[in-house]
This record gives sequence, C-alpha cells and structure tokens, in this order.
Amino acid sequence: MLDPTEYNDQDMGRVEVKNTTCYMCACRCGIRVTLRDGEVRHIEGNPEHPLNKGVICAKGASGIMKQYSPARLTKPLLRRADAERGESKFEEISWDRAFDIMEERLGKIRKEDPKKFALFTGRDQMQALTGMFAKQFGTPNYAAHGGFCSVNMAAGLIYTIGGSFWEFGGPDLERAKLFIMIGTAEDHHS
Ligand code: SF4
Repeated sequence: MLDPTEYNDQDMGRVEVKNTTCYMCACRCGIRVTLRDGEVRHIEGNPEHPLNKGVICAKGASGIMKQYSPARLTKPLLRRADAERGESKFEEISWDRAFDIMEERLGKIRKEDPKKFALFTGRDQMQALTGMFAKQFGTPNYAAHGGFCSVNMAAGLIYTIGGSFWEFGGPDLERAKLFIMIGTAEDHHS
C-alpha cells in the first residue's frame, strides 16, 4: 500500500468529483458525487445548483446505499417449494430460469385475460417503460410509487392551470406577483 501522507489520491487521478442531479425523489437537487477508483464514496449538495444551493436531505446523502447496500437484490428470488406465502423463504435462481417462469405464467394469463395481470413497481424511475410494458401486455392495471410531495402538486396544477412544472423547473419567485403552493413543500421548489 502506498503511504497516504506521500501520495495524494486526487493528484494520482484516483479521486474525481462529478456534478450531477439526485434522482432519489422528484426534486432533483444538484449534487456532487465523489468517486474513488470509479466507485461512489461520498454524496454532498452542490452549492452552485440554483434550486437547492448545496442543501440535500438525508435520503439524498445516503443515495450511496442505492449502489452498494448489501441488502440490494442482485439475483431473482423464488419462493421455496416447502414455504408458504408470507414465510419469506426464498432461493436464488438464475435469470434464465426466472425468465422461463415468467414467460410461462404471463403467457397463460395473457391468453386467458390480460387484465388479470397487475403490475406495481416502486420508485424505479422507469415508470414510462413499465407502463408501456403493461399497455403492450393488454392490462390497464399498473401503478407505481408516486412522490406524495409532488404528485398532488402536479395534479393540482394540471386541474387548475392545465400544466405542471413537475420536476424540471422552478417557479420564478423573484418576479412573481402571486405565489400559491398546492400540496408541496416550499423548499422542494419543484
Ligand atoms: S430532496 Fe433529497 S431525495 Fe429529493 S432530490 Fe433532493 S436530496 Fe435527493
């Protein structure tokens, strides 16, 4: 191991800092991510970002766990043959086996009645894709987590003024004559 008092990781190019956007909720705060040898090591707010000005919440700061938490699922799990539903006894299976099982089961449901298939996802940031998959499959029964801090705001704006800033803009507070908040936190700013 190199002596850390003589060799600076940053000078050696092992450490880099990337400016990007937090994707842990709809606010999209500006963040700075420190990487060491290409792996995320630290996340902090970007003080130069116009919306959050360097402030991030605990969830954003712990975004590193999304990449490296040992609790992440990395392989498909199948309920063990000797286990009852709810017992939380699973075995790891290969992706090929998982795809075979899904092909068989989904194929059967689709032939019978595609609407029997309901698809729910978490905050996967791929809701457009999962929604498209459900539509192609032929079921209207799909939903995903929606940020309570922003979905109600968007719904309110769509029903009142016909559109929403949603996630990718901030209100022009300095020039506004009237500012009405509908179901959103002011600091969220979305
Ligand atoms: S409010 Fe928190 S979780 Fe949401 S974008 Fe900002 S730092 Fe990320």
